[in-house]
Amino acid sequence: MSTFKAPKGTYDLLPPDSAKFLAVREAIAAPLRGSGYGYIETPGFENVELFARGVGESTDIVTKEMYAFETKGGDRLALRPEGTASVLRAALEANLHKAGNLPVKLWYSGSYYRYERPQKGRYRHFSQVGAEAIGAEDPALDAELIILADQAYRSLGLRNFRILLNSLGDKECRPVYREALQTFLRGLDLDEDTLRRAEINPLRVLDDKRESVQKQLGGAPLLRDYLCDACKAYHEEVRELVTAAGVVFEDDPKLVRGLDYYTRTTFEFVHDGLGSQSAVGGGGRYDGLSEMIGGPALPSVGWALGVDRTVLALEAEGVELELPATTSVFAVPLGDEARRVLFAKVTELRKNGVAADFAFGGKGLKAAMKAANRSGARYALVLGERDIEQGVVQLKDMESGEQTAVGMNEIVAELESRLG
Ligand code: AMP
Repeated sequence: MSTFKAPKGTYDLLPPDSAKFLAVREAIAAPLRGSGYGYIETPGFENVELFARGVGESTDIVTKEMYAFETKGGDRLALRPEGTASVLRAALEANLHKAGNLPVKLWYSGSYYRYERPQKGRYRHFSQVGAEAIGAEDPALDAELIILADQAYRSLGLRNFRILLNSLGDKECRPVYREALQTFLRGLDLDEDTLRRAEINPLRVLDDKRESVQKQLGGAPLLRDYLCDACKAYHEEVRELVTAAGVVFEDDPKLVRGLDYYTRTTFEFVHDGLGSQSAVGGGGRYDGLSEMIGGPALPSVGWALGVDRTVLALEAEGVELELPATTSVFAVPLGDEARRVLFAKVTELRKNGVAADFAFGGKGLKAAMKAANRSGARYALVLGERDIEQGVVQLKDMESGEQTAVGMNEIVAELESRLG
């Protein structure tokens, strides 16, 4: 072991488990790629103000969890705690919204950083795949994103997840509700911190997980009773479109999310096998965010799904992903001449798209066959001096144990045909 360990709240992805993470990222991205979303990559850090303004000054993410630092040049930066603000910043900076084709639909995949108290499913470095549809107010777009996330989870074989759906209203109706909620909260027996939060962002008090708070919230006014007609109609259409797609959801009138920028549609994907960190993904509409970061009015909607928690959810359900075999053919040379000949064959196989590996390090037959077994390869190619003289190579089927001599010049075609 080295003197160093992975920093607190982080972990390394190592083979063979790391293959699951790749498969999850791929499965989440696939429906997006097939639905007009283009790939975007932004830096791992941004001006700290982008998050302060974009995510919200009063959120835990900004006040407690951000990795903020000053560079040698005096810039105040922060490791990105989430993706939406950066993606919108990049789209605005490149004027993607002016190209005349709204919505701009983008997807991304990457690392995010929050200085949280680590526990199972909650890390300081984690991984998300996200999607944003920028510049259109259309309930079909909200529905599309919910349906695509559902499709992604189902394609992985996940079953025990639930979709929670709510509307947070807009700048017309939310302030009225906010007042009503504040009045209600002021009458409760709450600690100093929570009372302060009630003044800055009362909706987030609804999200307080503590029993002592939750039991006082029974009679709290609900946003759904305050929605203006436009928000009500919008929400109803989202619900209808999602339902028509056969996607089941639950109305959750208390669902608010930990970021300030959400308006109207808000949703969360929760998995019941994960204990307290049950949210595997979430998102919603953020019609005001562009203006908050200095852009024009660009109503938008998006989500981010957590890769780490999705992997945990698969494990909780006992889903075994069908991972592609990493190595199909494992080559075992016996002697120096065989090493040169077989190494060339392995290169040729790889060029022809056959995943092949090689017994490196001058191993003897026994150790090399052990390595072949461990590699999971379907076939082994064994080459000895006598084979070279005869112009053949021994092709061993690792499942049946059957071994046949195949002409050196035919072996690539033979393997290609056997492997389909
Ligand atoms: P949020 O932006 O907080 O809604 O996060 C979206 C998704 O990212 C969550 O549903 C989680 O799956 C994942 N996520 C957020 N924070 C963490 C964390 N600290 N550790 C692991 N996954 C996280």
